[in-house]
Amino acid sequence: MPRMPSPNRIKTHYVYTVWEAAQALGRHRQTVIRWIKDKGLVADRSKVPWLIQGKDLKQFLGHRRAKSKIKLELHHLFCLGCKAPQEPDGKFAEYTQASSTTGMLKALCPACGSITNKVVRRADLDAIRAKIEVTVQQANPRLVSPPAPRSNDTSAREPQTNDKTQFG
Ligand SMILES: [Zn+2]
Repeated sequence: MPRMPSPNRIKTHYVYTVWEAAQALGRHRQTVIRWIKDKGLVADRSKVPWLIQGKDLKQFLGHRRAKSKIKLELHHLFCLGCKAPQEPDGKFAEYTQASSTTGMLKALCPACGSITNKVVRRADLDAIRAKIEVTVQQANPRLVSPPAPRSNDTSAREPQTNDKTQFG
């Protein structure tokens, strides 16, 4: 699919006919009609030509573009309350080690105060700390016990053995 045109080409306070919208965006008229019929672009269809409010078209294009790039910045967390990525309130977050390579980043949403969290890679923690302040919580030893030191007993079975009956 071709990339969606930039919403910046549209004037918020202008009312577009389908033709004008297509012209402004460099798209075929049928494309704009399809957006209205199938993709939820709001238009006044009570008379011909159909009329599209600039703000509706802008919003439509904005949403489509936002959908195509959902990559969250490392130090941003997705707030379920706002349904948007948010930078932690006060640029402050809490990190709890969850496994040897990942942890849970927890922060408050600056907009609605909800607790947001996401799983991050341990390896990304430094990059996150470059942007915001992160306190590292004491890891839960039950979750993150380091692998038991190996004895030199070479007769110890590897855990990934196929022979399960041995342990029953
Ligand atoms: Zn929020």
